[in-house]
Amino acid sequence: MKVRFGLSCVELLQGDIVLQAADAIVNAANTDLAGGGGVDGAIHRAGGPSIMEETRVRYPLGCPTGDAVVSKAGLLPAKFVFHAVGPVWRGGQHREPELLRSCIRRCLELAIKNACRSIAFPAISTGVYRFPVDLAAENALDEVRAFLADPNVTLIVRFVLFDAGTYGAFARVLESFVD
Ligand code: ADP
Repeated sequence: MKVRFGLSCVELLQGDIVLQAADAIVNAANTDLAGGGGVDGAIHRAGGPSIMEETRVRYPLGCPTGDAVVSKAGLLPAKFVFHAVGPVWRGGQHREPELLRSCIRRCLELAIKNACRSIAFPAISTGVYRFPVDLAAENALDEVRAFLADPNVTLIVRFVLFDAGTYGAFARVLESFVD
């Protein structure tokens, strides 16, 4: 599915994010940038050890929740990996939606700063971090839509969703944006 926003567009597809050719691939990282399962494990496995060697040197204190940092992409078909730290879901009263939006916005800002034309996101926080998928889709896509409303921004934003359920949740929200 693909929806245009001015000169930009949002695309949804079901698949594995490490196979995506995009200028930037977003990692669902943790605050220690320490490596983990899910997207993070897949990115470091496919991208090779240079990615974590770089983040260890450049970001020895890790990255706070709601923020993102950049590294090169090693063997991945991308120029950059943006390591975004989404919130752990703790019931919804701990600024989870705000923190999810914030890490997504930081990635979009990093894309502009690094002259990227395309960026691929996973469904940050919806795996091990247990953020409800429908709510994550609403917040993620609305944050992207707000960012793309800036007429100076031209960006292809792709969400690469691993399973059909997550794809469906994102597709329902994106369809609701089209009138
Ligand atoms: P978090 O810790 O932020 O919840 P996870 O990596 O556990 O991050 O999961 C985030 C989402 O990414 C989940 O929907 C999960 O199913 C999905 N996912 C896991 N591996 C991949 C992959 N290789 N490509 C795309 N999405 C993936």
